[in-house]
Amino acid sequence: MRIFCDFDGTIAKVDTTDLVLTRLADPAWEDLEARWTRGEITAAACMRGQIALIGGDEAALDAVLDSVELADGFAEFVAWCQANAVPLTVVSDGVDRFIARILGRHGLDHLPVVANRLAGAALARSLEQPWSRAGCAAGSGVCKCQVAAAEAPSDDFMVFIGDGRSDFCVSGRADLLFARDKLAAYARSRAMPHHEFSDFHTITTTLAAAHGRRVRRAAI
Ligand SMILES: [Mg+2]
Ligand SMILES: [Zn+2]
Repeated sequence: MRIFCDFDGTIAKVDTTDLVLTRLADPAWEDLEARWTRGEITAAACMRGQIALIGGDEAALDAVLDSVELADGFAEFVAWCQANAVPLTVVSDGVDRFIARILGRHGLDHLPVVANRLAGAALARSLEQPWSRAGCAAGSGVCKCQVAAAEAPSDDFMVFIGDGRSDFCVSGRADLLFARDKLAAYARSRAMPHHEFSDFHTITTTLAAAHGRRVRRAAI
């Protein structure tokens, strides 16, 4: 068993990129958002443009990030994964610098993270997207299906947890899918089996039962 988990709106209670843009960016970021919503630019291009509009120094950025709360039960969920030797990777179409700051503040900076990379200095920031893929239906900076394919052997039992559009491409590959919000609506509309969740306590309970069944079967 191997778990991939989205960050914004899933581990973090809010979308941290949207929060940073709202607090620190030139208002032109909303024009880019509208162009993406109308389908004129990809999610990846939208985000590159928006990151370049972020103002404020590193301390101002950290102050915004330090207001972000994690979903209930996430720390316990990470502890369960460790206790059961189940690999957990955070795979996010957000920003590595933002995620590292937030996880670090909660003592969780040992988790592997795949995300877009913040580059440049304050007021001259840019975004690198080493995980983008031209054919990806999501058009995201991070193609999550490519990450899952690269990191997990195809015979591994794959668990995915997410909430949004950047999770659509990978959700169909999951053997066990936990979904909320847009991803849950997407899974319902395609009759994809999934568990809806509101916090990580319910995920840990469901996962522990599934893991127990798999371990018992393997022992027979
Ligand atoms: Mg999300
Ligand atoms: Zn993809």
